Amino acid sequence: MALHFSQKEDTIIALATPQGVGAIAVIRLSGNNAIKLANQVFYGKDLEKQESHTIHFGTIRDEKRVIDEVLVSLFIAPKSFTKENVVEISTHGSSYIINQVIKLLVSKGARPALPGEFTQRAFLNGQFDLAQAEAVADLIHSDSEASHQAAMNQMRGGFSGEIASLRTELIHFASMIELELDFTEEDVEFASRDDLRILVEKLLRVVEQLISSFDLGNVIKNGVPTVIAGKPNAGKSTLLNALLKEEKAIVSDIAGTTRDFIEDEINIGGVIFRFTDTAGIRETTDVLEAMGVSRTHEKMKAASLILYLFDLGDTDMVEISKDINKLENLGIPFLKVANKVDKANPLFVNELKKSYPDTIFISAGKKENLETLTSRILELVNLDKFRTGNTIVTNIRHYDSLTRTRQSLLDVLTGLDEEVTNDFLAMDIRRSLHFLGEITGEITTDDLLANIFSKFCIGK
Ligand code: GDP
Repeated sequence: MALHFSQKEDTIIALATPQGVGAIAVIRLSGNNAIKLANQVFYGKDLEKQESHTIHFGTIRDEKRVIDEVLVSLFIAPKSFTKENVVEISTHGSSYIINQVIKLLVSKGARPALPGEFTQRAFLNGQFDLAQAEAVADLIHSDSEASHQAAMNQMRGGFSGEIASLRTELIHFASMIELELDFTEEDVEFASRDDLRILVEKLLRVVEQLISSFDLGNVIKNGVPTVIAGKPNAGKSTLLNALLKEEKAIVSDIAGTTRDFIEDEINIGGVIFRFTDTAGIRETTDVLEAMGVSRTHEKMKAASLILYLFDLGDTDMVEISKDINKLENLGIPFLKVANKVDKANPLFVNELKKSYPDTIFISAGKKENLETLTSRILELVNLDKFRTGNTIVTNIRHYDSLTRTRQSLLDVLTGLDEEVTNDFLAMDIRRSLHFLGEITGEITTDDLLANIFSKFCIGK
């Protein structure tokens, strides 16, 4: 639902903290009249005479009846999240009190906020661009250190700055070439085609780097899809349970998955790993043959990481090297994990160490050497890129715009190669600019805005 101009004049209200009973709840008001409205129900001080960024103790009253003792924080425009006057009322966290306070303020003229309306106002008032607004949603939903970092980087504008400066350079070229269109009679060239090519190639490199960061970004946001592959009785369930106990586990039944593919999420070193229980594999005798079992196979191929788990007492060298060969052909990063080291034959362990020095020897049952396993898992997903603060794309909409940008930049290059006329060249450049602008919100449609902000919850 796109907002009409008149609605922007409203003072909106919503509970900013989660529904339910808590020690305190925060009710947020935003709009020109926010402080005036709050002042009508607040007793203790004249809020309209107070300075920005101050907190005041008092009571909220409906006529004579005291609803609650509260703290009121004031943010005077434009020094607030929405750049409007904002009042945050901290009440006691009872749903009765919350409802009474909101009802009272609505009766004085506030309007219940739509989902995402606070963030939408912040965007419309120039607090930040669209990519940053979307990062607010990601930040609220982030449940690991990694996803939190990525959202935080983006919210603070890391991503947008890069896009914006590239866009400015390109706009310069677009206008120079369009200027040439006005002088078609004379044979003038305001924009050097060689310089344009250099800029477009530079842009392409950045855009491609951003596009390729999406895989990593996706992993950070949604977790690394991980599969434990191994023969029946290798110890897959035992390992999964041991990891779940060891690390901060978020055991979840993800809706829509069948019993065969229950997913467990495990937070390892600040990164979420989504373990797919490969129950399907257990039914067959040879694990890697079982990859042929289509659904299991699909899961394997969708994985970003495979833990190849084998029982040291029940697997010989021939079998292991056959399995490793097959996994190498699959092309997905995998770790060789030898289980049940507690009862293994030391000669076999030595032989294995010689052939495959990178094997990790563990005992899932006795929880031995699991830290080595988890640190190797972290090494393999290589999040260093993200830790150095590099720009990472986590948003499918940005990814989409970037792929379109890439295509139109390639069209510009082709145009230069084929020496197309200026109007075609200008058109292709304009198209690249359009897609880049979509990311940060220089170019938006009401539908796009509505779509983005409706994904927020009320109160955000
Ligand atoms: P899955 O079929 O691959 O899921 O294997 P399970 O996790 O069900 O384990 C098979 C059997 O191996 C169970 O009896 C486990 O208790 C046992 N097991 C698992 N890990 C170890 C280990 O590290 N050492 C020993 N001695 N037994 C283990």
